Amino acid sequence: MLQDYLASKPLNELSTEMIAFTANLEMVAKKHPQVAKSILKELIDQRSHLKLIASENYCSLSAQSAMGNLLTDKYAEGFVGNRFYAGCDNVDNIEQMACDEAKKLFNCEHAYVQPHSGADANLVAFLAVLRMKVQTPMMDKLGEKNLLNISKAEWDEIRAAMGNQRLLGMGLYSGGHLTHGYRHNVSAQLFEVYNYNVNEETGLLDYDELHKQLQEVKPLIFLVGFSAYPRNIDYALLRKYADEVGAVMMVDMAHFAGLVAGGAISGVHNPVAYADIVTTTTHKTLRGPRGGMVLCKAEYAEYVDKGCPHVLGGPLPHVTAAKAIAFKEANTDEYKTYAHKVIENAQHLAAALVEKGIHVQTGGTENHIVLLNVEKLGLTGRQAESALRECGLTLNRNTLPNDKFGPWYTSGLRLGTPATTTLGMGKPEMQEIADIIATLLQKITAAPDKKGNPSKAKYIIDESEKAQAIKRIHTILKKYVLYPEIDVDFLKSYF
Ligand SMILES: *Cc1c(COP(=O)(O)O)cnc(C)c1O
Repeated sequence: MLQDYLASKPLNELSTEMIAFTANLEMVAKKHPQVAKSILKELIDQRSHLKLIASENYCSLSAQSAMGNLLTDKYAEGFVGNRFYAGCDNVDNIEQMACDEAKKLFNCEHAYVQPHSGADANLVAFLAVLRMKVQTPMMDKLGEKNLLNISKAEWDEIRAAMGNQRLLGMGLYSGGHLTHGYRHNVSAQLFEVYNYNVNEETGLLDYDELHKQLQEVKPLIFLVGFSAYPRNIDYALLRKYADEVGAVMMVDMAHFAGLVAGGAISGVHNPVAYADIVTTTTHKTLRGPRGGMVLCKAEYAEYVDKGCPHVLGGPLPHVTAAKAIAFKEANTDEYKTYAHKVIENAQHLAAALVEKGIHVQTGGTENHIVLLNVEKLGLTGRQAESALRECGLTLNRNTLPNDKFGPWYTSGLRLGTPATTTLGMGKPEMQEIADIIATLLQKITAAPDKKGNPSKAKYIIDESEKAQAIKRIHTILKKYVLYPEIDVDFLKSYF
């Protein structure tokens, strides 16, 4: 593969990116051709579908290259300068660079870059706060148990030993995340969980209501942050409320970290300036490798750095290297422009959808998320998601407040602009995409189930409508190619 590519053009016309990708694929194919084939097929899939999944993006080929090497072989439990393994000098340097870059990017006192994911970052933060604030032998209590087999009664015992600490987080149906106290998540076992919700009519957070609830619950941790809320939040105000009841203020900015990094979300809307602890993923708007991170005030650092042994094992040094690269990329003017454009694009998309008669939750957006109510069109989120995917658009269904179809079928669709903006799209494309989506949503109908009632999963779509939508999507994607340096047609001939 590589030899053929090298021989295909004069030396000065070869692309480093194509050489690296081809060499990498050839190395994988040597051991497992089917895996190499799936990697290539994934690239083809990503190139031929418009990615509107709000939590996904395209990380740079440089960050990807940093992940694919021998750093994966190194154990480095502990933290920089304090490892439980020998030979960590280079890994220490890499982790230090990632931490320094993160601190500069978010202007924060401490950064912990080891969490493997956003969910891990939240667990690290929860245990750091419990360890710091709760003077009971919680860890000893947990340590006696087989973690994979703790009964409900034992969890009750553990929670009681910790003084039944409370967590107040946003409800799942209002846009909160599973890790914010959903009953099947470990967060609901560690804490006595309380939820706040958005107003059902407006879809907006009600600050007065939240203030009242905070005073009633008086939680140990007041957790703010979301996976599906299209508005900014006033963290300065919430900090004041948290202080009144002595709560630790934790913000999970997994979704919008990149918009904060790029200065597109700032002032009272920048959680890093107000919260005690901030957790995030690194692969959503931040556009880095799949992973997590905790940022915190200096007084929490000692506890946060104990992510291992609290909940983590060895860090992933290859991913840490990619984080260092992604944070450096985000510390540029080019990235600032990107972050602002993500929001502008989401606003163009939302406005065009509203204009075409689609119900947009809260009437628009202030971040990268656009939430649609498709129940008003007689569809479930699941039907809309499947039908649009058939037409070349990848996006996901989402619950809405008080969702009558529940979390599997749902009433909503969540759209986001991080990926399309990375590809370089702007207002004209957003308007075209809105037109394609609105046209399709208004034409799709629920198919009847066996009893003749409207199905929640099956739908009817006109074949010529579908063909036309695919054609329009491909016209856009032809102009904005993912990783244009990679010649897929050349590589395809080897599989
Ligand atoms: C995505 C997300 C997470 C989880 O991130 P993973 O990397 O999938 O574990 C946590 N919190 C919020 C708010 C998220 O949106």
